[in-house]
Amino acid sequence: MASITLNHVAKHFGPKVAIADIDLKVEDGEFLVLLGPSGCGKSTLLRMLAGLETVTSGEIHVGGKRVDQLPPSARDMAFVFQSYALYPHMTVRRNIAFPLIMRQFKWWFHIPLIGGLAKRRIENSPAVRDLVEKTARTLSLTDMLDRYPRTLSGGQRQRVALGRAMVRQPEVFLMDEPLSNLDAKLRSAMRAEITRLHGRVGGTFVYVTHDQVEAMTMGTRIALMRDGVIQQFGTPREIYTAPANTYVARFIGTPPMNLIEAALEPGALRIGHVALPFAKAPAGGEAGQGGVILGIRPNALTVSPAAGEQAGVGQAGLFGTVSLVEHVGAESVIAVKLSDGTTAHEEEGAVPGEIMVTVQGYSELKPGDPVTLGADLSEAVLFSRETGRRI
Ligand code: ATP
Repeated sequence: MASITLNHVAKHFGPKVAIADIDLKVEDGEFLVLLGPSGCGKSTLLRMLAGLETVTSGEIHVGGKRVDQLPPSARDMAFVFQSYALYPHMTVRRNIAFPLIMRQFKWWFHIPLIGGLAKRRIENSPAVRDLVEKTARTLSLTDMLDRYPRTLSGGQRQRVALGRAMVRQPEVFLMDEPLSNLDAKLRSAMRAEITRLHGRVGGTFVYVTHDQVEAMTMGTRIALMRDGVIQQFGTPREIYTAPANTYVARFIGTPPMNLIEAALEPGALRIGHVALPFAKAPAGGEAGQGGVILGIRPNALTVSPAAGEQAGVGQAGLFGTVSLVEHVGAESVIAVKLSDGTTAHEEEGAVPGEIMVTVQGYSELKPGDPVTLGADLSEAVLFSRETGRRI
């Protein structure tokens, strides 16, 4: 097992800065998820760890040893790719045994007949057989050892790829979107499989994904990246409940956290013309009194029909009009256009003034219905309007 430390690691491709200047410490046995949108640099960071990409500057240490100048083979890390990368002409057994065969590689293995015999001998040696069979048992591949990759399903192939990584018993497992080629059901089964694998083999895992559900369910800690910069490094819970900035707030959660322009007043938070009681004074002076962004999760809001009242500016509470209702099994997601108040969502396609509310069960509300909104501000977070950082 090994800890991983990155000191001021940067990667430039000509003028393009893929990784800006990253400092990171991953503890022994951790499951680190590198999460972020396409192009944020997560694969580049993983490839630098593996030695498949050079670093432009900075240092990488694994288990206290500097590795950034070492070739991939000297780093004691196993890499699992999105595209399985199995050898199609080899059985599952040979695919899994392959790293062990290569450990004993001699130049004359290239000579067809002699090389073939030598490889088979290593594959059939008791130590290699035992290890391959033990690995196959762990991954429920025992019945498939003599089959070829083309006869396996995507999930089974990915398990073989995991087996080939495990058999080396590396200190560090590196995985680049290993589940992205699988269908939704298989993906969730393999998610659990990899989490269990981590529990059993106990190595340090670094896992790249753009899927927040994978990150939240598998990671012991998440590094959420954007444009080559880590936006937040923390446990899934920290990232969910205390996002470092508005970007993190909007990246995690489905639907994402609502961001609403607000003003701090003594004992109250004002949205448009409505003052909501708010006792939580912000720590630190970044916002002071005045303009802030209120971050509130869709499940901390409630909606009810605004019976007999006009959907407009109300002094007692927030009003709005339903613009969309989606029934998602056990809950309903309701989009509400605020009658008074402005949102601070930055993304393209976000409707100004529209917030999301999730409610349990089947909502009978319909587009056009006027509603009143209730807000549980006890779990709300505030962000600076200037910097976007949490206050
Ligand atoms: P994805 O999820 O789409 O794979 P990513 O977060 O893994 O994205 P990277 O592949 O690490 O992103 O790429 C980060 C940035 O560096 C991108 O803008 C990409 O275009 C750029 N980049 C990556 N490799 C090279 C290269 N060999 N030459 C030039 N630019 C590159």
